[in-house]
Amino acid sequence: MSGNDPYLWFGVAFFGQFVLFFFYNMGLKAYSQAQTNKLTVLRLNAIGRNRTVLECATCKHPNPVDIQISETSNGFKCEKCMMANSVYTTFKVFQKTEIVDGIITDDIAKKLILDKNTGSEIPKPSTEEEA
Ligand SMILES: [Zn+2]
Repeated sequence: MSGNDPYLWFGVAFFGQFVLFFFYNMGLKAYSQAQTNKLTVLRLNAIGRNRTVLECATCKHPNPVDIQISETSNGFKCEKCMMANSVYTTFKVFQKTEIVDGIITDDIAKKLILDKNTGSEIPKPSTEEEA
């Protein structure tokens, strides 16, 4: 078997392509996984960001503010008076009221819709135009 044996070089090329593409494929998988993780982080950050309008603590001027839920402290600089403001977000949890048997019938609905002052039923808004 000499160095110019065509069968030897065919074998090297044949099996070499599998080895080469195995590592190439591993690299591609790792790259795409890293890109996916990066996109997931960006997406989660985008979900947690909320734009709202808040009044400045000093001059009460309304400012558009980006609030990041995952951050414990958010802040903004007032557009009008240029004072720095801190925004603290809190969450309160309450037990949800459950209706017995989970069904609201018309009778129960009528009892629920009562006038705050008189205790009588609030009349339904008429669909007909009054003459
Ligand atoms: Zn201000």
